[in-house]
Amino acid sequence: MLKPALFLAAALLPSLALAQEAPGGGAPIAPTFDVQAARTRIDAGLDRNYPQLQALYEDIHQHPELGFQEQRTAALLAARMRKLGFTVTEHVGKTGIVAIYKNGPGKTILVRTELDALPLEEKTGLPYASHAQQTRDGRLTYVDHACGHDIHMAWWVGTAEALLAMKDQWHGTLMFIGQPSEETVGGAKAMLADGLFTRWPKPDVGFAAHVGPDAAGLVTVKEGTLSSASDKIDITFHGRGAHGSMPQESIDPIVMGAHFVSDVQTVISRETAPGTFGVVTVGAFQGGTVDNIIPDHADLQLTLRSHDDVTRKRLIDGVTRTANAVAAMAGAPAPTIEHPGGASAVHNDIALADRAAGVMQAAFGKDATFVPAYMPAGSASEDFSEFIAAGVPSVFFGVGGSDPAMLARYKAEGKPVPVNHSPYFAPAPEPSIKRGVETLTLAVLMVAGTAGT
Ligand SMILES: [Zn+2]
Ligand SMILES: [Zn+2]
Repeated sequence: MLKPALFLAAALLPSLALAQEAPGGGAPIAPTFDVQAARTRIDAGLDRNYPQLQALYEDIHQHPELGFQEQRTAALLAARMRKLGFTVTEHVGKTGIVAIYKNGPGKTILVRTELDALPLEEKTGLPYASHAQQTRDGRLTYVDHACGHDIHMAWWVGTAEALLAMKDQWHGTLMFIGQPSEETVGGAKAMLADGLFTRWPKPDVGFAAHVGPDAAGLVTVKEGTLSSASDKIDITFHGRGAHGSMPQESIDPIVMGAHFVSDVQTVISRETAPGTFGVVTVGAFQGGTVDNIIPDHADLQLTLRSHDDVTRKRLIDGVTRTANAVAAMAGAPAPTIEHPGGASAVHNDIALADRAAGVMQAAFGKDATFVPAYMPAGSASEDFSEFIAAGVPSVFFGVGGSDPAMLARYKAEGKPVPVNHSPYFAPAPEPSIKRGVETLTLAVLMVAGTAGT
């Protein structure tokens, strides 16, 4: 079922209602296997196995690791998967892992988790809160699984366990991958560059899921574009340092940076059509040391978000042009502009998403939400898009993680619910992990299940 709000949107916007009838999209497709019977078996396994998944989650949560530093995390997961009978290769794309399990002829199915955490101090006050620190760019920083990748690792292991317990009901090859450094949108590229789809067979289908602040247990299946493209841009303005009392002797990079921060927003407000999604955020601006020295350089870090390739290019071009113009205006040398990372938007395969939505609705009823392709995509980004772009039709699910009582409390207090990347983000582990296991296991059975599963 569509959410009533989505029906309303379609009714109010005739052009969108027409788009709903686009070929191949617009509605969940009824499943061809007994979804409830399969779910009953998955849940019976979870009843036995959940405590060790919770323990794994708490262990990972207390030992978070930054992108490409996930040594302990990767080793932990590799050992778990080997114990289950998977053939595991470590250090794929630096710290990634590939776990293969063959169960007769059939499709190769990718199931991906991320391994990395964020440079952030956790403030949840949970008994298993992280106090870990790691070095990043030469500086010690707190580390926190504030994006929920620890939840994902637990449901990824749980899905492997569920599928092995039900291997009479499917055939094919499982390719479970633990991907490093999602937060820098660099880990998927690193695994692909290290031969993910040449050293191993290219998967026929891919699945992944992300926990979010929706009510715990709510599964969302979005047709088509799900997330935004993300581009990281680093800019250094080069000036001329001088005494703070002698600005005439300087070319002030802080003034250049300040001009840039406000001028660059016209790339959105004047160069991007109203209604077209685009974001330019300057998230870091570092320059100078003390009050009476005009520094000789300032460093800025930006993130750009867009939903389509034309807008993506326009934002990158606009940022570059503005930075060069600001430096020219100050009589400074050209700035250094680097584009160290980027990923395109995640596009869920329409036909596969329609089938998956049918399965999730059969399994979870009103706790499964279908969002048609014409509805807008989100502004968050995900480098799972790299696997899709490499030719793996996929579905990326959303799984709600917030305890309903907590949601009600925040609502009553008129406060916003902590979202991913907040130091207060604290999904409820049990309902999130269990729903993730059910969702990903059912998705694999949907494409690999033997008749009557
Ligand atoms: Zn994140
Ligand atoms: Zn994430």
